Order: sequence, then C-alpha cells, then structure tokens
Amino acid sequence: MKIFKKKGKSFTGLFVRTFFVSIIAVIVSIMICIGLLYNNFWGFITEKLYTDKDIAMHGASALPDSFKDLDKEKVLRNNGWIEILQDNKVIDVIGEKKDDTVLYNSNLLGYMNENGEFYFGNTIEPIGSDYTVKVYDEELKYTYLVKIPRFDVVLNNYVDKMLAIDLEDQEYKEFEKITIKVIFMPILIGIITFIAIIGIHIFLAIKSIKKPLAKIQTGIDEFANGNMEAKIDFYSYSELNNIKDNFNYMIDKVNKIEKERLKSEESKKDMIRDISHDIKTPITSILGYSKAIIEKENMSEEERDIYLGYIHNKTIRIDYLINELFKFVELDNINYKLDKGERDYIEFIREVVLLHYKDIEDKNFILDLDLCEKDILLDFDDKNMERAISNLIVNSIKYNDEETTLKISVEEYKNEIITIIEDNGIGIEEEISNRIFEEFVRVDTSRNSEGGSGLGLAITKKIVELHNGSISLESKVGKGSKFIIKLPK
Ligand code: ADP
Repeated sequence: MKIFKKKGKSFTGLFVRTFFVSIIAVIVSIMICIGLLYNNFWGFITEKLYTDKDIAMHGASALPDSFKDLDKEKVLRNNGWIEILQDNKVIDVIGEKKDDTVLYNSNLLGYMNENGEFYFGNTIEPIGSDYTVKVYDEELKYTYLVKIPRFDVVLNNYVDKMLAIDLEDQEYKEFEKITIKVIFMPILIGIITFIAIIGIHIFLAIKSIKKPLAKIQTGIDEFANGNMEAKIDFYSYSELNNIKDNFNYMIDKVNKIEKERLKSEESKKDMIRDISHDIKTPITSILGYSKAIIEKENMSEEERDIYLGYIHNKTIRIDYLINELFKFVELDNINYKLDKGERDYIEFIREVVLLHYKDIEDKNFILDLDLCEKDILLDFDDKNMERAISNLIVNSIKYNDEETTLKISVEEYKNEIITIIEDNGIGIEEEISNRIFEEFVRVDTSRNSEGGSGLGLAITKKIVELHNGSISLESKVGKGSKFIIKLPK
C-alpha cells in the first residue's frame, strides 16, 4: 500500500474541538442559567417583597441622606417604617413598627458613638437586629429613624408564611408557580442551551464526515459494479483523505493491471500467431521436399540427397524455434527457480567468449576484451547466464558485417557488476530498439525463415531480471549497438 503524506485536519482535532465546545457549552449554559436565575429572582423580589431593588439589596443605606428628600411612601412600600423620636423616645411611627424598642439610650449599639452622639445620616445595622436603620436629625425638635427590614429576613418570612398556609390556597399556588419560574426555568433553559450547542456541534461534525463517507460508499459501489473510473474527490479529515487517496491509488493500480493483462493477452495472441507463422514456413518446405521425393519417380540419388538436406535443415530450424519457445515459456513461469552457485564471474565470461571464439574468428571480427583484473565472486545461475550472454554475442556476429569490432567489458562497482557487450556494427533503429527486448521483435519484419526466433533478447532479459538485474540498449543505426547488463552483487 502506498503511504501518503498526511493531508487535512485530523479526527483528533475534531475530538479536541468537541472537548472545547463541551466546555464552552457548559460555561455558556451555566452563565445563562445564573443570569436568568438572578434576573427572575430579582423580578420576583421586586414584584412580591420590595418595590425598589436598591432598597432590597442595600437596605436603609439606599435611602437619601437628607430627610426632606425621603419618599416616605417608598419606605412603607419597601416593608419599612419611620420612627419619630424626642429625647430618644419614640413618640410617633409612620407605617407599621415591627420591633418593640420605644426608648433608645446611648448603649443602643451603633446609634451613638462613645460620646453619646448619633451617627446622623449614617446607616446602622444593629447587631442581632432584623433591620437596617438610617438616622435623620436635621430637625431641631425630632430625630427620625427609618428602619428597613433586612432582605433575608423579609424573604424568610415570606417563605415561612407560604409554607405555613394551605397547599390549596391560591397564594400558595402562585408561590409554587413563581418558584418553578424562578428556579426551574433557568435550569431548564441552561440545559436546553447546553444540548443545543452540543447538538449543533455534533450535527456539523456528522455532516462533515457523512458527505465524504457517502462519496466513498458511492465510489466503492460503482467500483464493485465494474466502473473502473470510479475515482472519488473530496477534501475532508486527513484520515478520510487517506482513504480517498488509497482508493484512487487502488483504482489506478487495478486499471494498470487490467491494461497489462489485456496487453499480455494481446501479446500471447501475437506470440501464437508468430510461432505458427515461424513453424509453418519450414514445415511447408518439408512438406514440399518430401512430396517431391515421394512423387518424383526417376529422382537421382544426388537430387534426393539435396532434398533430404533441405528437409534436415528445416527440421533443425523447427527444433531451434521450439527450443527457444520452450525456454521462453519456462522462464516466464512464475514458479521458475534459478540454479544459482557462487563462482568467479570474470572466469565465466572468458569461458562464454571462448565458446564463440571460432565464429568470431570465422567472421573476421575484432575482439576487444576488457575484463576486470581481479576475480569477482558472484552468486548466479551459470547455465542460464551463459545463454543470456551468448545470445548477445551470437546476435552481434549474426547481424553485423565482417571486421566489426566486438567489445566485451566487465566492471565491478560498489553494489553492482556491469557487463557491456558492444559492437560498432549496423546498429538498430530507435523505433525498434525501444521494443527490442519484447518477444518476437525483429529488425527483419518479413520474418523470413533464415532469421532468428525473435525470442533471443526476450530470453536474455528474463534471465537477467531473474537475477534481479537489468538490461538496456544504446544503439544508433550505422554506429553499432551497446547492450548493458547490470547485476547486483
Ligand atoms: P533473433 O532471434 O531474431 O536474433 P533477438 O531477440 O535475439 O531475436 O534479436 C532481435 C533483433 O534485434 C534481431 O532480429 C536483430 O535484427 C536485432 N539485433 C540484435 N542484436 C543486434 C546487434 N548486435 N546488431 C544489430 N542488430 C541486432
């Protein structure tokens, strides 16, 4: 499997985002909940218990500093009352007095300092009392104490009162309704907000995954139904992008394999056609000569020997073609195993050259051997390799004119051994040299019966490749051909 570089955002990012969104959702929901609780609570307080939020929150200190600015009605509306004092004695009360103090003395905490002076205009919350007090002494005659019951006391009283009354009472029912509105509604809205934020996030996350997944699914379905072009295209999370890239890579690969399969099928058909043609030609000749021998009654012994000679030659040709074909098919089998052994490669090349030395001499070739001085130990199948190298030497002798120079060289490198079999002969056209290692490719396209099989170089290539090596050709018409074999050490 091809490894692709990571592209796009990762799913991990999505999980991290979900985590942060959850935290934000919790914070936002709690804030909304608290906000609503606060708002509803004060709504309830100002509707039921006080008319003025400031007075509810801050008691008497929220009242004006000057008595003439005091809104007496407001004091009464906010559960307070005003006591009018003369000589520290309560002589009159505006509103409903909710304590029993009628006489104030200097010990009355907070009302006077240690010099027996009032903290006029200040707000006092006597220790242990249920109210806050503001003292006004602007008039010569009277002192005014404005008392506002403490918020928690008012609230407690209200709740106690509610709990004490009949459950069926209309006022209790209203209290219950208000409690639900004040407490449960904010909590419910907070929970709904939390679910909404998380829900929207999950919806968007699922949408961002669903779309590419649907495309992958469609691609797989189409591919399963035989659409070889079912490539998919989207940009999403890196994990999905990787699946997409691998899927598209697989489609390319399958297409390539399919093309190669079709090509190989085509080449097999070509091969059968070429073999039939190559074998048919000598067989037709054999048929003709043998028929002549049978039918020609007064054939001389000499003439018959000539015909038998032709038949013999054509039989050799068929034998050669079938041998080459066998070899090629044998090497083409994926289960074919080389018979390798370690030996000196230089010595081996010398032996192969020696095998063809007579032919080289007969064709007046100039042989240039450039072999490594030292031994090169190599693990190879010498029988097969002899065939591979021989094919190249034989070709050079067979296809080039007399006095061509044949140069054979071996060089040892760090990781490989390079064998070059080169001649300065007729060379091979570029158009053919590109395909020269394919089976049945010959320069002589007429496929006349005297040519080779067209399998020699294909066999050589297979043998070299079975040794994990490679073979290439550099050739120019009129300049010669250079076959380069690279074998790994
Ligand atoms: P064949 O059995 O026909 O020799 P090969 O595969 O061995 O098949 O060679 C393919 C063709 O390449 C040959 O038909 C020949 O025309 C050309 N060829 C191979 N080697 C040489 C060479 N050294 N010089 C010129 N032509 C060559």
